[in-house]
Amino acid sequence: MPKRFGSRDSIADIDRPRIVRRSRNYRRRRCPRCGRYRAYRVRQAQRTLHDLGDPVTGRGRRIHVTYSQHRCRGCGAYFNADMNDLAPPKCHYTHRVMAMAVRLVVEDGFSYYNAWWRLWSEYGVFVPLATLQNWAEAKGKKRRRRRGVS
Ligand SMILES: [Zn+2]
Repeated sequence: MPKRFGSRDSIADIDRPRIVRRSRNYRRRRCPRCGRYRAYRVRQAQRTLHDLGDPVTGRGRRIHVTYSQHRCRGCGAYFNADMNDLAPPKCHYTHRVMAMAVRLVVEDGFSYYNAWWRLWSEYGVFVPLATLQNWAEAKGKKRRRRRGVS
């Protein structure tokens, strides 16, 4: 481990994202299909989410989520533990990243490229341009007021 200087990031750490762990790992859950509390854990899995990093250092942040997968003894349904509070289903980015991307484009009027660069250089999160565009369009880029060229 590199030597730490107090609680600040050392220079050697800046290029590596900070890893934060979260757990959505339960022995049993209520079944979303039949509503009975008989959905037992059959295995655990991990998922990595890209989060907004530290704007002071530009250091990225990733969340390693350990979550449980369940099978319902009532109806046989398979499902994952709910982690929609962290990120949308099947998305590699947290709600915070999506919200910041949409804000930059839709509210602040950044071009996709400039928004992409800002996310990368300030928050250490790499979002493909096409993904950024999809988010912004889904959240109503059309509502955006046109700004004068400056
Ligand atoms: Zn069920």
